[in-house]
Amino acid sequence: FLSKNLVHKNMKHVYYLTTSSVFGHPGPHDAYYNYFLNLPFPKNKIFATYVWIDASGINLRSKDRILDKEPCDLEMVPKWSYDGSSTGHSTGQSDLKDSDITLLPVAVYRDPFRKSPHIIVLCETYSSEGLPTPTNHRVSSAITLSKICDQEPWFGIEQEYTMFDRDHWPLGWPKPRGYPDQDSKNSYCGVGEHVAGREIAECHARACIYSGMDYDGSNAEVMNGSWEFQVGPTLGIKAADDIWIGRYLLNRIAEHFDVIISFHPKPMGDGHAGIGCHHNFSTKKMRADQGVTEIKRICKILCDQHENIIKSYDLKDGEDNKKRLVGKFETSSYDSCRVGISDRSASIRIQKKVISEGKGYFEDRRPAGNCDPYMVCGLIAKTCI
Ligand code: ADP
Ligand code: MN
Ligand code: MN
Ligand code: MN
Ligand code: MN
Repeated sequence: FLSKNLVHKNMKHVYYLTTSSVFGHPGPHDAYYNYFLNLPFPKNKIFATYVWIDASGINLRSKDRILDKEPCDLEMVPKWSYDGSSTGHSTGQSDLKDSDITLLPVAVYRDPFRKSPHIIVLCETYSSEGLPTPTNHRVSSAITLSKICDQEPWFGIEQEYTMFDRDHWPLGWPKPRGYPDQDSKNSYCGVGEHVAGREIAECHARACIYSGMDYDGSNAEVMNGSWEFQVGPTLGIKAADDIWIGRYLLNRIAEHFDVIISFHPKPMGDGHAGIGCHHNFSTKKMRADQGVTEIKRICKILCDQHENIIKSYDLKDGEDNKKRLVGKFETSSYDSCRVGISDRSASIRIQKKVISEGKGYFEDRRPAGNCDPYMVCGLIAKTCI
């Protein structure tokens, strides 16, 4: 069993998935595959899947090793390494002679594919000199968050994504390469003919909850073929950890459905909705009576720093997000920042309920679907120092 500091509150309930619900539609090899999955398995062999962010800053990689017992704390999970010259992590082929990147385990989740006691290990990446690799933004984020831990920072993150068929056309769109009715507004929280990919979202929900993530919910999004899942509200760095593991599980599940997942903020161009990653935030002070004063103060700082901040809210120093933040499709403008009450065209939204109750949280709507939540959480937390 995982020890206290690894077990999250919702891990008390174990939802066992049947093999068939994880591995999608019945295929010709299912019986054969299941035969091997059901082989008697020795108790002293634990699969540990090490997961890390590669040099792209958005794609994840993983590899497996066998441990001889289930770790009961992080210290029991050994460090590992991988060949950075094969993942773009070192600067290229010239680095073949110095290609080892260290994997430092930072969080452990239950493996929903193989089930407990097998585990998924989220890792930070370090160069051979012991420095964080350029896409390891977790270190600095964790340092910032630790500086405000007495303020009890909670994050709730909404991750939107698009599902593509192997022909690179979104799920549910007319084939070949036809367009859905863009003005219908039928897909957001839609059912039946207006949505596609629900089975994947359902498998993903169950996998996330089983894993120990603070999974909070999901809904179909504005553009057909796109969905959202939410994490939180969660204390500190775990919200961003959970988003990365949620992204990993989504990609793994999609493999079984022959589907490709994209977090690109504007995958289908100008005429179609964008893909965001709203970050909701509160501190103890904001959640207490009269907290709205603190909420407004922090929102103002986040707006004042817009020009700087916006460069860290997507994968490409703002270039990707520029295509999404165009003032249409419930987005604000890329060039300016505005705090709005109950306003989904604002950069930062404060709910009406928060104003009437005088406390709660706010929503930064600017981060793009392909942002690094470590960077975003770090920047939001910095405003509280
Ligand atoms: P919407 O789509 O209306 O913006 P969602 O229901 O999709 O809202 O997402 C709300 C997010 O806010 C969730 O991730 C949830 O965990 C988070 N959240 C709720 N309460 C708080 C809070 N006090 N502090 C921070 N985040 C919160
Ligand atoms: Mn090898
Ligand atoms: Mn939402
Ligand atoms: Mn949404
Ligand atoms: Mn939102």
